[in-house]
Amino acid sequence: MRSWRWQISRIMRLCLWWCRPCPKRGGRPGQPQKRLNELWSYWKLLLKSLYFNSLTNSDTYLDCVFEPVYWIVDNVTRWFGVVFVGLVIVLTSSVLVIVYLFLLPVILNTYPLPWIFWHLTYGHWLLVMVVFHYYKATTTSPGHPPQVKSDTPSVSMCKKCIVPKPARTHHCSICNTCILKMDHHCPWLNNCVGHFNHRYFFSFCVYMTMGCMYCSVTSKDMFIEAYNAIESYYQTPPPLFSFRERTLHKSVIFLWVLTSSVAIALGGLTLWHAILITRGETSVERHINKKEIRRLKEMGRVFRNPYHYGKINNWKVLLGVEETSHWLTRVFLPSSHTPCEDGLVWECPQALTSRDLMAI
Ligand SMILES: [Zn+2]
Ligand SMILES: [Zn+2]
Repeated sequence: MRSWRWQISRIMRLCLWWCRPCPKRGGRPGQPQKRLNELWSYWKLLLKSLYFNSLTNSDTYLDCVFEPVYWIVDNVTRWFGVVFVGLVIVLTSSVLVIVYLFLLPVILNTYPLPWIFWHLTYGHWLLVMVVFHYYKATTTSPGHPPQVKSDTPSVSMCKKCIVPKPARTHHCSICNTCILKMDHHCPWLNNCVGHFNHRYFFSFCVYMTMGCMYCSVTSKDMFIEAYNAIESYYQTPPPLFSFRERTLHKSVIFLWVLTSSVAIALGGLTLWHAILITRGETSVERHINKKEIRRLKEMGRVFRNPYHYGKINNWKVLLGVEETSHWLTRVFLPSSHTPCEDGLVWECPQALTSRDLMAI
């Protein structure tokens, strides 16, 4: 083990050596500009020699710059996920409490019987679907490629897991593993959305949006009343509201604002995912396919998504609908059925020739 003095002297020598990259071949004093240019060229060369290769492009530079951000995302997002899941549970429970305490009594006391029946049935059906799909989306594994040698056809190797990657498989840096038909890592689920829980994720988004829209529309009149009542708090003399009434006003405002905001935000996200599903793409593939479309266009060719089975068939594949009755039993009722495919091998439509296929 060398002493620390030796280490410092070594570093200083190296620094001196770096600062004198070119020998003074007849160099004259009074040429600081030239000397600076030489120094600049040398540093550039030195820096490039550390990372440059023929594949270096602007993406590589950006990746290098954002490496610390990636590290934080990789190590902290998993814990964010726990907080986000807690937030979903707390906010949904608070909405439920407000609905049962304040909204439902109004419906039961003022609405005609058929409407009461409709509200009770529709509201509770939405509640069951939301809870079921959220639970399944968070607890179902998205699916991983085999970790041992197998005959599964693969399109590339994962450089991090050192295992062959089947088609549509991508590495999640937050879960630190490869995910079959990876869509994205969802912090609200604290789980990756992949082949085996994609349906649960999408159904949760749809039913949560519908639930929020239902609460927002049903509580609209109560919201207007509560808003006007809160406005009158500041009149002189202030109106006499009981503690229960004041709690009702604030709760209804909270309910309406929260459910309306979530309905808009989640509704937009759900619509985007619906478009992707109709095209037979995942969120990851959308980015890859966009690049491929551009690349092939420059070559005078047209890109065709090899996993696009037709608009209706794409939905059937995602929802696991094999018979007409499955639309009721597997889509509109809670169902734990697994997808028809294993997520490892993907059949391509016959209309495509082998020339059109590519590893994505
Ligand atoms: Zn991997
Ligand atoms: Zn993940």
